[in-house]
Amino acid sequence: MIEVRNLSKTFGSFSALKDVSLSIEPGELVALLGPSGSGKTTLLRIIAGLECPDAGEVAFEGTSATNLAVRDRQVGFVFQHFALFRHMTVADNISFGLRVRERALRPSKAEIRERVEHLLSMVQLKGLESRYPSQLSGGQRQRVALARALAVEPRVLLLDEPFGALDAQVRKDLRRWLRHLHDDLGITSVFVTHDQEEAMEVADRVVVMDHGRIEQVGSPRDIYDHPVSPFVYRFLGNVNGFPCRSNGGRIHVVGTEMIAPDFAGHGERDVTAFIRPHDFDIEAGSEQANATLRHAVVLGPQVRIEVNLADGQIVEAELARDVFDRLSLHPRQKIRVVPRRAQIFLDDGTQARAQP
Ligand code: ATP
Repeated sequence: MIEVRNLSKTFGSFSALKDVSLSIEPGELVALLGPSGSGKTTLLRIIAGLECPDAGEVAFEGTSATNLAVRDRQVGFVFQHFALFRHMTVADNISFGLRVRERALRPSKAEIRERVEHLLSMVQLKGLESRYPSQLSGGQRQRVALARALAVEPRVLLLDEPFGALDAQVRKDLRRWLRHLHDDLGITSVFVTHDQEEAMEVADRVVVMDHGRIEQVGSPRDIYDHPVSPFVYRFLGNVNGFPCRSNGGRIHVVGTEMIAPDFAGHGERDVTAFIRPHDFDIEAGSEQANATLRHAVVLGPQVRIEVNLADGQIVEAELARDVFDRLSLHPRQKIRVVPRRAQIFLDDGTQARAQP
């Protein structure tokens, strides 16, 4: 549906996109995920035709869009900051794109009314058609913006941090709602976010970007389980990093010995072992205690603990509330922290390798 080939873009001497290629299937919901300044918005704007690449091209359904103006690309656009017309009602905002069409393509007034009714019920705003944007909540305004983008029946929907300016609960509700709406409509959609949870929850495929490059493309599960680089691994959630040494593939991490087959053919080398907070087992009353509990925070069904290892390193771990209660953990308690071998991710500075 959308083919992006070898796109590059510089602003002055700054290289915002470096040789980016990406293929998006019809009906997919794709997230562009990355830290601030990684080039997500620039890529989205080039797809929309709002920005011109220095090199490379964008094609829709196999046809180059290079010479297509924004209005001819048939894309719907939703921005982070509610770009609604303040002096227009909800209904007029939604129907705007239809009303400004040239006469031959413009639907009749009755057709427009019907379309607006339909869109209002789709975005669950029935009854609010006569309100002005100032009389709506942030979440309602973003739904109006979405209805307005959908009114012209675009072939592609592009969303730039659509929920970025909303508070946490509304954001959560809206992203679930967007996923359902997408499933109902099946419209090819690309959205920008810097929130990994949002990308993982909503998207079919996630494109992880850093410094103007695509680091990895894959399903949420794929990139979480098989990150191709330490950057991707770290960006997808909290991690603890442990500098250690591999000796012919034999590595000691947090008092646990493990074998890294990838390093078996090499002699001694420095590696970093990354372990996520929920990939530790915690034991209390063990003769082999290797840590002291510093601090615990209950996060609903999970508890996050901070522990001091015997060598002074601080580790963040997470465990289920019932396990925490069963072990009667308390600050200054001696405990044993054991990483789950299968979940350790190793990096030797050249290439990262996940352990089976
Ligand atoms: P954010 O999440 O902060 O929006 P992003 O990943 O979407 O970040 P872009 O907005 O694509 O990043 O910007 C990439 C880089 O290009 C940034 O460093 C930004 O400052 C720069 N940039 C973007 N647009 C322009 C512009 N019109 N002129 C100069 N520099 C720009």
